Amino acid sequence: MGKLKLVNIDKSYQIGNSYLNVLKQISLEFRESEFVSILGPSGSGKTTLLNIIGGLDQYDLGDLVINGNSTKHFKNRDWDAYRNRSIGFVFQNYNLITHQSVLQNVEIAMTLSGVSTSERKERAQKALEEVGLKEHINKRPNQLSGGQMQRVAIARALVNNPDIILADEPTGALDSKTSTQVMEILKDVAKTRLVIMVTHNEEIAEAYSTRIIRFLDGKIQSDSHPLTGDEDEQHKEAPKAKKRNKTSMSLFTALSLSFKNLLTKKGRTILTAFAGSIGIIGVALVLALSNGLSNQLDVMQGDTLANFPIMIDTNEQLVDFEQMGPPNQEDNDDYEEYPEDTTIYRYDNADSLSAHANLLTDDFLDYVEQMEAEIPEAIDNISYTRGVEVNLLAQANDQVVKFETISQAMTAAMPDMNGDGGVYWQEMPTDQDFILDMYDLIGENSRLPEASDEVALVIDSYNRISAEFFDNLGLDENEESYDVTDFIGESILKIVPNDQYYSEDENGFFAPANPTSYEALFEEETGKNLVITGVLRVKEDAATSYFSEGFIYPEALTDYIVADAQSSEIAQAQEDADIDLLTNTPFQNDDAKDQALIRLGAITTPTGIDIYPTHFEGKDEIKAYLDDYNVDLDEEDQIVYIDLAEMLGDIMTDMINTVTYVLVGFAAISLVVSTIMIGIITYVSVIERTKEIGILRSVGARKKDISRVFNAETLIVGFVAGSLGVTISYLLILPINNLIEQLTDIADVASLNIVAAVVLVVGSMILTLIAGVIPARMGAKKDPVEALRTE
Ligand code: ADP
Ligand code: MG
Repeated sequence: MGKLKLVNIDKSYQIGNSYLNVLKQISLEFRESEFVSILGPSGSGKTTLLNIIGGLDQYDLGDLVINGNSTKHFKNRDWDAYRNRSIGFVFQNYNLITHQSVLQNVEIAMTLSGVSTSERKERAQKALEEVGLKEHINKRPNQLSGGQMQRVAIARALVNNPDIILADEPTGALDSKTSTQVMEILKDVAKTRLVIMVTHNEEIAEAYSTRIIRFLDGKIQSDSHPLTGDEDEQHKEAPKAKKRNKTSMSLFTALSLSFKNLLTKKGRTILTAFAGSIGIIGVALVLALSNGLSNQLDVMQGDTLANFPIMIDTNEQLVDFEQMGPPNQEDNDDYEEYPEDTTIYRYDNADSLSAHANLLTDDFLDYVEQMEAEIPEAIDNISYTRGVEVNLLAQANDQVVKFETISQAMTAAMPDMNGDGGVYWQEMPTDQDFILDMYDLIGENSRLPEASDEVALVIDSYNRISAEFFDNLGLDENEESYDVTDFIGESILKIVPNDQYYSEDENGFFAPANPTSYEALFEEETGKNLVITGVLRVKEDAATSYFSEGFIYPEALTDYIVADAQSSEIAQAQEDADIDLLTNTPFQNDDAKDQALIRLGAITTPTGIDIYPTHFEGKDEIKAYLDDYNVDLDEEDQIVYIDLAEMLGDIMTDMINTVTYVLVGFAAISLVVSTIMIGIITYVSVIERTKEIGILRSVGARKKDISRVFNAETLIVGFVAGSLGVTISYLLILPINNLIEQLTDIADVASLNIVAAVVLVVGSMILTLIAGVIPARMGAKKDPVEALRTE
């Protein structure tokens, strides 16, 4: 039994629908060391035979027996290991990897078999020395002559110390002098191993080989020195099965192969990486900007917005916070928002009340009071606004009318809420700065009311107040607009004390009912004439309108009304009575007496609570405390609070997010484009490196290793693209920040943190890796024989 045995090997190629039988029942046996020449005309199947012996191609029928082992059940990895350990190929056209040095070309087979770097280098150098190329180890293949290149190929074939050298017309491209050099080397090699050489050249075959096999039409014609039975016996003794470890290429080798390859086309690589980096730049800048803006926002919220209270208001439902503006947005086309002039319009207010109204019950008020004990460090101040019933007369023209402080829509929606401050008549919070943060004063000499005889007018962003309000003032329905000067400085309202307002007769107390009695009351010396000190309009950038349209008045006025009401005859009588003095009906429950006193203005009802936090974090504690109250409560009993600072923040965050999404969208598109592009470039690279694929496969690289080579290439491109992108982004951030600072006075807005930068580079590598997966797999699947045949 010989070293290598072919048993009835049959091989056909399919061409279209027919089969070409290239090898026909070939049976051959080889000695452990001999120099076999295979002679035969072109197309007779010599290369095919060699490829099958070398495990580059697979036979259809028969068996290839290596060291006594059948290869019928060989798996891919067994063939790969076999090629790597047992076979050395020498090709007619040398098949060297052009972008690697001579030394690296020789090392390549060892990189697959896991030999250490230093040993690899040493062995490669030695192999090159043996073929007489000591001087040329650092040259590129294309700097050598043909004979030198073929000697490099022989060194490569020998370096892994294989049992078999397969040489396919090694001198086919060489002149006779260099042919001799190469043949001498091969002859030498054949002393210790099996060399199978295919050649055209009869002379060379005769001169150097120890055995000549003639081939014709896929059949053996003659064999000059076939094995005898004796030799068989001789070999039987020592069938040392050479252990074949799996081959594998380290990522480092793959990276170095691809890196060298990329270096040979620097221009294209840089262009590709630059194109790939554009998407990365986009994403990086968007991240940097939105990140910077968010940081800016946090600082702002912490600094400024901490001063904004958490607000709980009973008339919250009239302010549409979601829409940020007056509730009826539909019919605003006729009006200009934030007009320059000082005209005030009346409009038809088709009020749509939202479902929820905060009921500031005693329970809740107690709960808020307890808060100051529970989380004192979070609370700076709690201020209450109060509603008080008031006898308010208006004389806006000739006629005196009773001014209804509550809109009909409101009354209809909440019939139980008598005593509430109402919509057209609201107490102001004491903090003037807070109001002026949200409201502009419109008109000349416009100012906030402070004294107990001062009020102000609130208009919406379109300079409007609902028609009902003007009707309540007794103004002519046909009048469509007014000017702020019609109101500022005017004294059209009068508070009538209870003692003048209510009369008493034998049936008890009663309120005036007709216009003439209003007129008389308005003329009286007593009472309080109220001056309108200003007109307020919500600012354009305000998060919400805190007040509803109508009059607002200072705390001092509430104090005055309550003091007056409490000392009034009717209130004092009511205190002692068991029946409602105005309706002469007995009280139904305990609350009823308080309700009666509220209606007389002797007791105030809370209409709003403003809780001022000490610092930004305190706000969260307060909110958590308030949220606790709502647990287990029905929706209608729950308390809804407004965090103005957060709303401001939310609006800005929304804006930032929207802008971010749009920009990310654009950046994403460029990322997709560059990913596709890198896929195409990798495909081109696979085409270009087909020969290299064949070479690598011939020295034992697995399909997986081939994928790895191209994945390494895309990883490098991705890394360069990512790094380039991040670097360019850092450079671009400088002028961008400069521009933003010039426009907004805010310095260093855009900032790209290191983590994001690293993530972007890694992301770029992942993206390009994904882009390269398909082309890399195409490369891996290439048939090694065909790959070697490409030029
Ligand atoms: P030789 O090396 O003796 O010149 P080959 O072994 O290269 O011959 O080819 C033998 C025959 O098989 C030729 O006719 C060739 O065209 C054909 N052949 C080789 N490889 C393939 C293939 N992959 N597909 C189809 N036909 C092939
Ligand atoms: Mg051939």
